[in-house]
Amino acid sequence: MSETFSVTATDGAARAGLLRTAHGDVPTPAFMPVGTKATVKTVDPDELRALGTTILLGNTYHLHFRPTEDLIAELGGLHRFMGWDGPILTDSGGFQVFSLRDTIAAVDDDGVTFNSVYDGSAERFTPETVAAIQAKLGSDIAMCLDICPPADVPRAELAEAVRRTTLWASRQLAAPRAEGQLLFGIAQGAADPELRRRSIAEIAELGFDGHALGGLAIGEERGLMFETTAWAAVELPADRPRYFMGIGDPEGVLEVIERGVDMFDCVLPTRTARTGSALTWEGRLNLRNARFAHDPKPLDESCPCPACSRFSRAYLRHLINQEELLGLRLLSLHNLRFLIDLTANARAAIEQGRLAAYKSEALDRLASAA
Ligand SMILES: [Zn+2]
Repeated sequence: MSETFSVTATDGAARAGLLRTAHGDVPTPAFMPVGTKATVKTVDPDELRALGTTILLGNTYHLHFRPTEDLIAELGGLHRFMGWDGPILTDSGGFQVFSLRDTIAAVDDDGVTFNSVYDGSAERFTPETVAAIQAKLGSDIAMCLDICPPADVPRAELAEAVRRTTLWASRQLAAPRAEGQLLFGIAQGAADPELRRRSIAEIAELGFDGHALGGLAIGEERGLMFETTAWAAVELPADRPRYFMGIGDPEGVLEVIERGVDMFDCVLPTRTARTGSALTWEGRLNLRNARFAHDPKPLDESCPCPACSRFSRAYLRHLINQEELLGLRLLSLHNLRFLIDLTANARAAIEQGRLAAYKSEALDRLASAA
């Protein structure tokens, strides 16, 4: 058992645990709201805390270009800069680089050269440079620079991504970090059993504080994604946290928790809010729909969030239709609360050994809807 993570209960492959970081403990499974540009869009840190948020994610790529890690370090590091004193995980920036493929100029064994989406300027990321950026940001958990190829990439290219991901992980492990900063390795290999297993074995061998499944939820068929997660998650070392990168729909969250995943992140709650939709136990409600025009009910009768405790669907629909900022904020607060509660309830169900029942009941309710 590592000092930074303990599993406190299991239910099938699912685990409840506790992750210890320099800025506090994170009960797992944990949903991490995404604060791309040092803010979870429209939501204040006090509100995040009140929603039950235990850890946030920050994006190294964006913070590196705007406002830069040097400026953030000068202002006391990312926690102080954004007014959030709880745990923060920063990604490496690699996902942004490799998903914006037309901005890549060159990839070699040393690193990747690309053009910034902000002003087109040439930039180079290597394991050492992303370690240095994350050290200056001062996040509690830093992620390794990896190569995440598209879902339909030829196998030779996937194999090359796996090889370089391991090479880069071993270099980043040797690079300086912020004091107390944990480092997670990332396994690639898409849904290819041999390459995924090879990547997991190589990354696990290096001895990170935690491990992530990267290269899933990037457009492959969902059944294949869950099937891959089922055998891949349990191959990651059991005594370290397992992080599924980029999932946040209610059904998907329950599926990966059941398969032994401890942490996950997604922009879905805030992005869904920006489209005028709410995650509820009646499924996803699109408030632009005329059927809500006279609806006096809250989004969700059982939700204690600021949107549900004071406002009707009709009022929220009015705000969304008029593009009022309050509408966006309230929907973001609600959607975050929904996923945080869903995850906390799954944790409680694991502790009680009834995750399967909780999950099937939840999926039934979510599917019955709208
Ligand atoms: Zn609510």
